[in-house]
Amino acid sequence: MNELPLTDAWIVAQRPPRPRHDPWKPHGFLVEGERTRQGRVEEVATIFLVNRECPFRCLMCDLWKYTIPDRVPDGAIVAQLRQALNQLAESHPGVRHVKLYNAGNFFDAQAIPPGELPSLAELLAPFETIIVECHPKLIGSRVVEFQDRLRGELQVAMGLETVHPEVLPRLNKRMTLDDFAQATRFLNAQGISVRAFLLVRPPWLSEEEGVIWAKRSLDWAFAVGVECCVLIPTRAGNGAMEVLQARGQFSPPSLNSLEAALRYGLSLQRGRVFADLWEVHGSAEQLARLERLNREGRA
Ligand code: SF4
Repeated sequence: MNELPLTDAWIVAQRPPRPRHDPWKPHGFLVEGERTRQGRVEEVATIFLVNRECPFRCLMCDLWKYTIPDRVPDGAIVAQLRQALNQLAESHPGVRHVKLYNAGNFFDAQAIPPGELPSLAELLAPFETIIVECHPKLIGSRVVEFQDRLRGELQVAMGLETVHPEVLPRLNKRMTLDDFAQATRFLNAQGISVRAFLLVRPPWLSEEEGVIWAKRSLDWAFAVGVECCVLIPTRAGNGAMEVLQARGQFSPPSLNSLEAALRYGLSLQRGRVFADLWEVHGSAEQLARLERLNREGRA
């Protein structure tokens, strides 16, 4: 079988059509319980912002579906956040932790116009914890400037994906482990904690290897200073992953593998570990068990 090119152009060419989105309206928000560093389960709101697509083209990424091709008009991100926070205040008053997820990089100037960061920080004043996501290569002084404007604590979520030495480069993430470690050290030195996204069973790994490398990735993440790891079962849905699946080079992990990786991560007791259960299907019993592990934080 021929090798797939796995370039930006090839990955983009496999995509199904992109849904249209209004840059003046957020996708919405959800509120769920999440274990805090202090061990309490508290409500965390995740607000999904519409903005320009991430400039990277990771092989497994389907987040571009929630983005638009062009930079948003000035003022649009602030307007989106204001709408979401108004609705949040009505439906869930008193939430103290918020994730601003923009399906890309919060500190990408083409995604979130830097001129809006001061107004965003003002709107976020009531929150104790603010979590944003960003590629390690886009971590720099803008993060620190944003943190200085916040009243609450900033956490940055970055995709580590896997520490597998052959799989990581093939994911087209344009990031080395050194890049991730350097960004983590930089953030920690500024008093900013790091959340890492880890893939359970990325392409080219068997079910068993998927668990082994998820465990190694957890070990590595905590060793470089990550505070919280989120295990994401690798999924299809972006076109490219379906091509790999049809060629036998990718299969989503079983829930047992996700649970094994979660239990291992919790047993380390080095930081928080969660299994990402968004859009995950399985037996009600096992899903309830995974939710309980997420909440209790004990294997
Ligand atoms: S950096 Fe993140 S948002 Fe951008 S393509 Fe990769 S996984 Fe997707």
